[in-house]
Order: sequence, then C-alpha cells, then structure tokens
Amino acid sequence: MSRVNREKLERTLKRRFFYTPSFEIYGGVSGLYDLGPPGCQLQNNLIQLWREHFIMEENMLQVDGSMLTPYDVLKTSGHVDKFTDWMCQNSKTGEYYRADHLIEQTLKKRLLDKNTDPHDVKNIENILVTLDGFTGSELNRIMQKYRIHDPVTNDVLGPLAAFNLMFQTKIGASGQLKAFLRPETAQGQFLNFNKLLDINQGRIPFASASIGKSFRNEISPRSGLLRVREFLMAEIEHFVDPLNKSHEKFNQVLDEEIPLLSRRSQESDESIPVRMTIGEAVKSGVVENETLGYFMARVHKFLLKVGINRNKFRFRQHLSNEMAHYATDCWDGEILTTYGWIECIGCADRAAFDLTVHSKKTGRSLTVKQKLDTPKERTEWALEVNKKLFGSKFKQKAKVIESILSNFSQDELISKHEELNKSGKFSCQINDEVVELDKSLITIKMKSTLQHVREYIPNVIEPSFGLGRIIYCIFDHCFQVRADNEARTFFSFPLQIAPIKVCIATISNNSNFPSIVKKISQILRKKEIYFKTDDSNTSIGKKYARNDELGAPFVITIDFETMKDDSVTLRERNSMKQVRGSIDDVISVIDRMTHNPEAKWENSTLQLSPIKI
Ligand code: AMP
Repeated sequence: MSRVNREKLERTLKRRFFYTPSFEIYGGVSGLYDLGPPGCQLQNNLIQLWREHFIMEENMLQVDGSMLTPYDVLKTSGHVDKFTDWMCQNSKTGEYYRADHLIEQTLKKRLLDKNTDPHDVKNIENILVTLDGFTGSELNRIMQKYRIHDPVTNDVLGPLAAFNLMFQTKIGASGQLKAFLRPETAQGQFLNFNKLLDINQGRIPFASASIGKSFRNEISPRSGLLRVREFLMAEIEHFVDPLNKSHEKFNQVLDEEIPLLSRRSQESDESIPVRMTIGEAVKSGVVENETLGYFMARVHKFLLKVGINRNKFRFRQHLSNEMAHYATDCWDGEILTTYGWIECIGCADRAAFDLTVHSKKTGRSLTVKQKLDTPKERTEWALEVNKKLFGSKFKQKAKVIESILSNFSQDELISKHEELNKSGKFSCQINDEVVELDKSLITIKMKSTLQHVREYIPNVIEPSFGLGRIIYCIFDHCFQVRADNEARTFFSFPLQIAPIKVCIATISNNSNFPSIVKKISQILRKKEIYFKTDDSNTSIGKKYARNDELGAPFVITIDFETMKDDSVTLRERNSMKQVRGSIDDVISVIDRMTHNPEAKWENSTLQLSPIKI
C-alpha cells in the first residue's frame, strides 16, 4: 500500500470512528487512542478468536493479573534497571528523540543519498542490521561518528540519557508503596505459578495466558496505533521441563510453512526470509526446540486467519546482541506495513529466568516435583541449619532466611563452604539486609540421599502478542481500493473479524419499511449475527459505499418487491455480487457463512437467484 493510501486509510478509520486520539477536544495526548464502536467490535472479535485459537485449543489457564505492580516485583524481574530506551533532547526546542529510531531514520536516508561515501554505505548497512541490540555508549558513538542531528532543525542534540519506560505511581494514602503500571502481563502469571501448577495436578507442561492492558511511556510515540503508551497485550507462558521441550501436538503443525529470517541470514546481509516448514526448521536446528516451533506455527496460522497477508509476514530471529542473556532462542513475528516491518509478536524461550529470580527474592519455592519411577542415589552439597539456635537468633525472619538458603545452587554451596572453612562464617543478602551466619548455625557438607522426587524450576516459552498492533496491521492489509473507482474503498475483513456482519438497508425511507427492518433485526439478533441498519434517506449506492468502509461483508436490501413477496437482495462486499431470495433463505446464507469460516459464497448461495447489475 502506498503512503497516499495510508493517508486514505487513516482518514477512513477516523471518519468511521474505528479509533480517534484520546481527549481530542482537549488537544489530545500523543500515544493515547480511543476505539470507537466498530474498533471495539473488531477488537472483541480478535480477542474471541485469540481465546479460541490459543486458550481453548491448548486448555490454557487464564489469569487476569493486577495492572498496578509493586516496585519489588519489577525490580526483581529486571524492569526497574533494564527496561529503558536511550533518548536525547534538543535543548532549544525541548523536543525529545528516541536515539535508536533517530539513528535508523537518518541512516536510512543517507543510504538513499548518492553522495554518501561507498565505504560508509557498508558500515551503515551493518549498523542498521544490529541496531536493536546496541548499548547506550554504542548509540552515542554512532550519533557522534555520523553527526546525527535534530531531523527538523538540524541542531546538535544533547547527550544520550537512559529513560525507563514504566509509569511510576504510589499505592495507598501514605504513598509508601512505590509501584508501576505493568509494562507486560507476564509477571502476574509467573507469580501465580504454584497455584496454576496445583490446578494442573502438579503436572507439566501446561500454559497460562493473560489478556489485558499494558503501559509504556514511549519517548516520542509516532506511527499511530503502532507505538502507543497504553496497549492491549495477550501473553502465553508455557511451562516446560528443561530436559524435554518436545510438544505432543508438534506433528499437527509439521508442514506449516513459515518465512524465517534467521540470525545467520541477517549476519550475511540477507533480508529475504526463507520459507521452510516448521518441521524442517526444528530438525535442522534453525528453531531451537519443538515447543517454540509449535507456537511459531500456531501464531502463523492465527495471523492468516485474522486477515494478515501471508506475503507481508516474517519471523525474524533475534541477533545475539539483541537477545536477553538468559534466553535460549527468540523470534519476532514481524508484519510489513507502510511504516516498515513492525514487531507484533515476540516468541521467546526464556529458560528458567523469571521463576528463578522471583523464587530467590521471596524465598518461595517455584518448582515442579516429579515423582521418579526408580529412586536415584544422589551425592551433592547440602546445607543444614541448627534449627534451635536459628529460631532464637532470627525469630520471625528465620523462615525467610532458611528458605533463601535452601535455594542455594551447588556452586553457591561450594563457595559458602569454603568461606565457612576459611573464616568460620559467611554473610548473605536477605532482601535489603545482610545477615551473618557462622558454623554454630550452619553446616555445609556432601551428602548422599536416595531421591524419590526430581525437583526443578521449569523453563518458559513465551509468545507475547501486541493485539493493538495486530489490529492496525489488519486495517492496513484489508484496506482495498475498487479497481474501477479510486475514490471507493473498502475493508476486506475476514468474516469472523468484521465488526459488523451485515447491514440492513432500505431502498428509500418508505413508511412500510421499518416493520420489515424490525422483523429482520429480530431474526439476526436471535442468531447472534452482529448487524446495523441504514434506513436513512440516502441513495442505495451511498449506503453500499458507507457499508464498505465499515467492512461489513453483506448488505440485505429491502425494496418495494419485499412488500409483495418477502424477497430481499443480498450483496457481497468484495465481489459486489448480488443475489435475491426470501428473507429466510438470505439469512440462512449469512448464518452459515458467519459461523463457518470454510463456507464459500458460490456454494452457499446456490438456492438464491443471481442479479445482473
Ligand atoms: P516486548 O515485550 O517489548 O517484546 O513487546 C511485546 C509485544 O507488545 C510486541 O511484540 C508488540 O506487539 C507490543 N508492543 C510493545 N510496545 C508497544 C507499543 N508501544 N505500542 C503498541 N504495542 C506495543
């Protein structure tokens, strides 16, 4: 779609109130948008399809976590220290820029400039490929080297500063409890892990899921709905045995062909993804494991179902400098729009990071206990606490300290054992306090035990969806211009996504028509088919055009014949084909097509009479 059509698209979306800037009559706030009636309905449909495709298909356990999240949770998860972007300011105009975006935008322009030194061209291409993973000092170096200034005024910009993207707040009247609006929905799932595991009878693998708003204080949100400060996310946390990442339904998706832009291709300057079946991708090691591959294939199927163009989608693997240190593999589901490739879904194998850090911080075990068929003898370092002394020394803190000590890894035990031997004591950080533990309180030694149970922290495979971004991409991919008339546009939404399935239109505002509209409305309502009516005094052509802009797949037209024989015209949006039949027959076609995604217009309308236009 061209840039001109993007403007047309965004004008149509605003005119039909799919969305609008929030607080518009107060001047608006960038990065905040309200959805209007068709936007809400489309979002509801997308959520419903997402629930069916993921939650119901896998029996996932849904969690609706709190959006207000205490400081400690996000400090432990790493968001307080690391959830930052780099920004710089023009001190004259006060404008802020996100450094990586500014570099990308400026260097892309330089690539198009014939005067750019060919030696720089190669360097710039390399920078653009790896930019996502750059540190602040690397970004700074590039800003200096390529003299990247304010794109509007050409002023020299101030030094780079890290900016944390979370919105901070305080809970309660005293304001003592520092908190944030959550930047993702995942933490609520990790923190409830034990309860979820319990519901699943202690068995693994299983997945949880959350759908809800997240908040990020983006530095300079542009690109409409794509980069906003409050957005709808849907996240899955699939908990899996670290020693077995196979997926029992992997066979069902083996042949799903998906476009993959691997790390290796990107490092060799390839930008065209390779189409590969997921079976082959996992077998050859391009994708790290079956469970990750399974979800990538399911994500691909989902996107095609909701109206994403298969030729404008790719999975791009994170480069090593882009991936979190704990992750073992990560692929972004990217969709091509007029704003370029946009990350809409992240699929990552996060290993045991999240459960481990929360367990360490709280002293609560977040593990799976697997009963072994044949007990195993195991010799390992073990820590024992002198309960009597411990209790009287630490009183109510004793339990937390004990539980933190019980989570020590073998390496930690070895080093503490050495410290005890050397100096008779060691110190240990317990939340905000350092406690000292000596030989009278603690013994660390090698111990052999017969293990009946294997205890481990599961790994997490996380598909994370930005539903707001996907909605914009659906708009972008479904926006069509009629071949014979540039001014006539429509949305070719798939039936299940379309906000309104059918419009009941009257050929004029004849006084006999409202009772027929009412009768048809009642039948549609009973069949749970979302509709709207248009009995205004406008020409039928204008009504069709208005309806096309809302993307409703069908129009039922009531005319003077209807009064005589109960027949109506049914018009299909994409082909503009029209057929005629009784009200009952026409509604049963719409019913069949709305509730069965496989049903085709040609086969469903055989009993109706075609109309030549
Ligand atoms: P992340 O946790 O950064 O990988 O983000 C997960 C998903 O959230 C992304 O794939 C996007 O679809 C979505 N997302 C992230 N930031 C924004 C934003 N500012 N506006 C809209 N969607 C976003």
